[in-house]
Amino acid sequence: MRKHFCAILIIASAIFAYLPAKSATELNTYEQQIDTLKKDGIDPVCKMKVKAGSIKTHIHNKVVYGFCSDGCKRSFLKQPEKYLKK
Ligand SMILES: [Zn+2]
Repeated sequence: MRKHFCAILIIASAIFAYLPAKSATELNTYEQQIDTLKKDGIDPVCKMKVKAGSIKTHIHNKVVYGFCSDGCKRSFLKQPEKYLKK
């Protein structure tokens, strides 16, 4: 019985040790997809002009897209193909 408890404790601490490391990696991945817009662009979601220097951007297929708002960016992230087809 005691052995069993020890095993659970080891597994639990292993999970806790793993979790923060994982979220840090996810954060890095997220940051890599953000770049400053180098020149004026068009928000692919609402077609508004986005000024150079905006950090509301997302890199898709190595192209930096700028967005007027986080809402537009979220819409784009959900279905990028939908907004790029047109
Ligand atoms: Zn927009």
